Amino acid sequence: MESEEIDMTEFDTRLVHGRSQHDNQTGAVNVPIYNSSTFIFPKVDAKVTWDYARSGNPTRNYLEDQLAALENGAKGFAFSSGLAAIHAVLGIFSPGDHIVIGNTIYGGTFRLINQFFKRWDLKVTPVDTQDLAAVENAIQPTTKAIYFETVANPLLKVTSVKAISKIAKRHGLLTIVDNTFLTPYLQQPLDLGADIVVHSATKYLGGHSDVVAGIAVAKDQAIADRIYFNQNGIGSVLSPADSNLIRRGIQTLAVRLDRHVSNAAKIVNFLQSRPEIAKVYYPGIAGTKDYEIATAELKGYGGIISFELQKGFDAIKFVENLNLIQLAVSLGAVESLIELPYKMTHAELSPQEQLKAGITHQLVRLSVGIEDPKDLIGDLTQSLDRLSEPVSEVTD
Ligand SMILES: *Cc1c(COP(=O)(O)O)cnc(C)c1O
Repeated sequence: MESEEIDMTEFDTRLVHGRSQHDNQTGAVNVPIYNSSTFIFPKVDAKVTWDYARSGNPTRNYLEDQLAALENGAKGFAFSSGLAAIHAVLGIFSPGDHIVIGNTIYGGTFRLINQFFKRWDLKVTPVDTQDLAAVENAIQPTTKAIYFETVANPLLKVTSVKAISKIAKRHGLLTIVDNTFLTPYLQQPLDLGADIVVHSATKYLGGHSDVVAGIAVAKDQAIADRIYFNQNGIGSVLSPADSNLIRRGIQTLAVRLDRHVSNAAKIVNFLQSRPEIAKVYYPGIAGTKDYEIATAELKGYGGIISFELQKGFDAIKFVENLNLIQLAVSLGAVESLIELPYKMTHAELSPQEQLKAGITHQLVRLSVGIEDPKDLIGDLTQSLDRLSEPVSEVTD
């Protein structure tokens, strides 16, 4: 009933209401979880919308349309993980093609490119995507795309989607943005000039650490068709039940992210006041290029903070002594998660590579949750206080 569709102009309203359904005979307010792998053909040569669930499932398609609408793209695709989405997107290129990649992209993406796509002769040049001259210089006659993350791990370096896509357009290249750290609530890369946006929906879109999922959205139908071929052809699709969890997560995206962002700002202020902290990395801290780009292109500075303890303070003891904030990889969930990049998320890098990326043994990454900020600051305070306690002598 297209004509009765309410005109929803505001983004937060669209998050909650999603898309109207056309196959709902019960009045259910949510799209059903269609646990059906196959669909009936009324006649052998009938033109059916659904035939087999790898090719399309109504619950998954609902989520895909929801994300296409939120990212202002032609078509969205849901995958069984973020890396599966990235695999399908990079799979649109051919052997011999070259892509310029950000030098701080997610480690799993780097491994996929270096250990999988190199075998089918995809060439890459990693560059600092904040350095526009370096990006320009890395472009070769065989270059087809520039791939990066707007806010990148673990130092939260910010890249301008506008500036990169301008370079890409001038050279006839695609701009591909991993928007996991921001979500369409804080940035819509396709509106800033990008052609494809990908997400690990495992993080903020899901938001509750209970599902692994990936999303890709293409701005134009022609590129969407190439991604769809890979989604259906490779087959790493998101299940109907998990599609529903991401759909549900998206409904609370605005309220969750508002809280993530405001909690992060309070924690940044707190950390900057503590003598045990040598440096805080957060795009919302004024005076850096990251801040400049973030202020111009993001709706908020995000919920991830990295910080370095002063030399002499034991970072392992610090994270292990936290009570409320949990020691775990991953990010973007309602609960706060903390980790040591050199030992956990970035352990695959050699000591030299870690050093070059600024990943010291004192570096801590915090994914700020939506708890009461007083409790989070309380937990950080007690653990920081304990760092200066004299080590108790064993007296037995
Ligand atoms: C987690 C993550 C991925 C990979 O997603 P999975 O869902 O774990 O496969 C890709 N990019 C970024 C920025 C991530 O944080």
